[in-house]
Amino acid sequence: MTERPRPHLAVVGAGPAGLAATLAAARHGVRVTLIDAAPEAGGQFYRQPAAGLKALRPQAPHHHRPGWLRLRDGLDRELEAGHVVHLRDRHVWFVERRPEGFTVHALLGPEQERPQEVRADAVLLATGGYEKVLPFPGWTLPGVVTAGGAQAMLKGGLVLPGRTAVVAGTGPLLLPVATGLAAAGARVAALVESAGPRAFVRRSPALATRPAKLAEGARYAGQLLRHRVRTLVHHTVVEAHGDRRLEAVTVAALDAEGRVRPGTRRRLDCDTLAVGHGMLPHTDLAQGLGCRVDGVAVHVDDEQRTDVPGVWAAGEATGVGGADLALAEGHIAGRSAAARLSGSQPDPRDWARAAGTRAGLRRFFAAVDEACAPPAHWAEQVTDDTVVCRCEEVPAGAVRRAVTELGAGDVRTVKLLTRAGMGWCQGRMCGPAVAGLTGCPETAGSRPFARPVPLGVLARAGGDDESRSERRSGQQSEHQ
Ligand SMILES: Cc1cc2nc3c(=O)[nH]c(=O)nc-3n(C[C@H](O)[C@H](O)[C@H](O)COP(=O)(O)OP(=O)(O)OC[C@H]3O[C@@H](n4cnc5c(N)ncnc54)[C@H](O)[C@@H]3O)c2cc1C
Repeated sequence: MTERPRPHLAVVGAGPAGLAATLAAARHGVRVTLIDAAPEAGGQFYRQPAAGLKALRPQAPHHHRPGWLRLRDGLDRELEAGHVVHLRDRHVWFVERRPEGFTVHALLGPEQERPQEVRADAVLLATGGYEKVLPFPGWTLPGVVTAGGAQAMLKGGLVLPGRTAVVAGTGPLLLPVATGLAAAGARVAALVESAGPRAFVRRSPALATRPAKLAEGARYAGQLLRHRVRTLVHHTVVEAHGDRRLEAVTVAALDAEGRVRPGTRRRLDCDTLAVGHGMLPHTDLAQGLGCRVDGVAVHVDDEQRTDVPGVWAAGEATGVGGADLALAEGHIAGRSAAARLSGSQPDPRDWARAAGTRAGLRRFFAAVDEACAPPAHWAEQVTDDTVVCRCEEVPAGAVRRAVTELGAGDVRTVKLLTRAGMGWCQGRMCGPAVAGLTGCPETAGSRPFARPVPLGVLARAGGDDESRSERRSGQQSEHQ
């Protein structure tokens, strides 16, 4: 008797969520194509040193190595069994829904210029999130990097961004960044967190539900003490100074309303400022498919299904909550997809443990997210000449004038009037800043494509089925 062919799932993103989903689906009868822009699996949390660096101790800058090894070994087994194909260095720019299934459009090559298509019965989006950074005078100076960027240099490139660092902003990511830089030999002059202790105390019932997470926080606090890192809570960076590059930052205490307290400014010498104000989900591919987005995150049901049939989403694309939550959501999504693609009704008891973890961590991180909101009056520190949109070099004054003098009432009109958000990153970086400066609500920006696409690729991707199939004979295309 011939075996029924396995249904085919395309998973976009090989971070914790995508890996957990891939393993769960592959172990339950699905053929998976795992597609990721990075050269190695792992995503942000399990980012590995570049292979060419031949790291002697690749584990040194990493946390949770046993968890990573379990995922990596599991992936290797499924690759060997032929249940999974891992496509690296593929930047997915669009997922197309067609009557017979889905076509994932990706670009590969150093210039992301070579197109590749993957066709599948269903799609699982595990594209993670990216850092939010709010502007302040001097934030465009060389030496100012995002907190995650500093960590990526260390984890992926095994280099320090500088000798003396200040780590600033808000959110739990600052802890591994500050301790990681200090452990790797940088002098961390200060960890500047804008949230105050009261914000956490007020949310202690929700926070106390995850003692393991609190213990993790305590371990980081111990490491900060050991490395003599000064921690300034309820403080913010108000300015970065330097002539050609960063030389120092001014920090100040905040009052209960989130305003800078007069007379508290102090200057800290440093050559690196690693700054981040939280995380935002990647929603472009989901929006391109027409999936519902709630606020800034992809909406999913208890099985991690979006409201578009055949499309699942997991991990930080559906809301920011750390690697353990991403793993739990990925597992549930993979199990659900496997059951539904094989035509059976999923049984939630199959993932009861993961669902418990998911519920607990969502509650915990909702409380952390509220506690770690950027200071309410951060925009007051942004001088009119501070560049807000770096791609198009639009200063804060122009953004403000678009509202006060030209009558713009939403971010889109501000963009049309000023070009803020019209450049290479399509407002991913400056979107929250423009919203904050103008008082407009922060929403997931709607972009037709997740990545910049060469016009030639776009032209070839259009057209009807007949011309497509003619082209396919000549074009590099993957149909699995
Ligand atoms: C810069 C950064 C640093 C972080 N550091 C820490 C840390 O030290 N400790 C901690 O607890 N948490 C950290 N986090 C949070 C942590 O990354 C997440 O909790 C966890 O990794 C989320 O897992 P995920 O699978 O949802 O997404 P990710 O780990 O972000 O994985 C998403 C994957 O999708 C791929 N991808 C995205 N879009 C596309 C596309 N269009 N085409 C192809 N591939 C795509 C990416 O290359 C990536 O590999 C960090 C987050 C960021 C953004």
